[in-house]
Amino acid sequence: MMNTRRLDNHDSLLPEACNGHQLNHCKTVSCSHFGSTDPHHYVLQRNNPNKPMLVCKECGAFPPIINNHDVVEEALRLKQQQNSGMPACSNPDCENLGLPVLTHRHLYHAFGFSGDRQRYRCKCCQATFVDRWSGVNGKNLIQQKLLAMLFTGYPVRDICRRLNMNPKSFYDQLSHIASRCRRQLAMFDARLVKHTPQLALASDISELQPNSGNGVLWVASSEAESGYVLAQDINYQPDEHKECSEWHDPYADGARFMAAPSAQRVEAPAALPQGLLAHIDAVYREIMARPNFEDPLSSKPRLNYPSKGCLIRPQYTVYAHYMHLQQMLVQNEKLAIYMPQETLLRSACISIFCERIKDKTIHPIYVETDPEWQHGQQAGRIDIVLMGWWRDRWAFTRQNDISKGVCHLGGEKDNEGQWLEIATHKAITRYQQRFQDQFAQFINEPRRKLRPGGLLPLLDIYRAWHNLCHQDKDGFTPAQRMGLVTTPLTLEQLLS
Ligand SMILES: [Zn+2]
Ligand SMILES: [Zn+2]
Repeated sequence: MMNTRRLDNHDSLLPEACNGHQLNHCKTVSCSHFGSTDPHHYVLQRNNPNKPMLVCKECGAFPPIINNHDVVEEALRLKQQQNSGMPACSNPDCENLGLPVLTHRHLYHAFGFSGDRQRYRCKCCQATFVDRWSGVNGKNLIQQKLLAMLFTGYPVRDICRRLNMNPKSFYDQLSHIASRCRRQLAMFDARLVKHTPQLALASDISELQPNSGNGVLWVASSEAESGYVLAQDINYQPDEHKECSEWHDPYADGARFMAAPSAQRVEAPAALPQGLLAHIDAVYREIMARPNFEDPLSSKPRLNYPSKGCLIRPQYTVYAHYMHLQQMLVQNEKLAIYMPQETLLRSACISIFCERIKDKTIHPIYVETDPEWQHGQQAGRIDIVLMGWWRDRWAFTRQNDISKGVCHLGGEKDNEGQWLEIATHKAITRYQQRFQDQFAQFINEPRRKLRPGGLLPLLDIYRAWHNLCHQDKDGFTPAQRMGLVTTPLTLEQLLS
């Protein structure tokens, strides 16, 4: 679907705002047009009609254009997925539609029982519904066994044989367990954001199934020290979408739905150099070589597009990920977000939190270290180096030839020593790696490579287990570290 509108008209220069969100603006924090949504501050270049480009008249930056409406819709999708299966008003004409009882108690009355399960009535439309996960879980024991085997790496067919169930009931049980997990998580998540006005998060993005080449990316954010994972999202939906397009046209609604791209010639990436500085420099060059530098998939030579469901262009899922976090963190006063050097994370973060960057209540920070770096060491001598097209201001320090670098993406210049000591995204990076190790068997089943949908319930279960059950070497769970609970949850408690 090619866009034929005249684009040099100032009124239509930027894609239409949606619910007050205009995410197209200069993203150079030091530029006087940073965050500006005045179309007179930009020119549109159309050298390539498939790739219109917005250029800031002040600093010359050319942030890729994104469809605001699609980001808002994607955030809604992510939220609905998190709330799916939870008791909530389901009347499509009601303003409480989809708002779960667990996190919005004031919208509902408890309204008797159905068997041993709690019934509720919506205060707005008077509709009643049952919390199907309240009451006794009759399947607790078999679900515990199923999880125990899944977590120790048994193949699905072995689990089915041992538990005497067919594959369909295996996946049904898995999705019931996931619903219970989301229910538990919703309560802990709400408590965490309510009681933590100052928060440091760590974000990372990785391939969900690294051996599949299927284009599914996984973005996740946790509290930086405890590792409590607050949100994780993937750029894939199990439902088909009828109009997917190979080209990204950010002026057309539905721009986020991605068709299978045709194979393209891409130069094989050179091996990344060893030293930290050279490594960071090479990553900048790799990112600039992407056809769209906010879309890591745009430089892939080919994708094994999933045979069911639909891929979302990754920038939409990542912007929506931060939009969802922003909605969760309305009460937050001071926020740090540590992330690896990835322009997509940076752009999404500073666009969504643009106002907070201006207010200086948020600290988005790139963190890169040599693998041997010990977290928590004090910074020694600090060297400042401006790097990449953006002239990002990195601060480096070294201990015995092992280096660490940080870059404050909000433009702060006087706290490098502190950030070099405390900033880390290790907790979330390890969380993602552990998932790959723990479920290698499940993730890499040959038929699963083109059917990533089967991993969705597992992701919810893994997050719940990690936050609430999994103990670190000192015997504490992330939820305990955050002071949300005094003991680890057992699998039985998780499932009840
Ligand atoms: Zn600018
Ligand atoms: Zn209602």
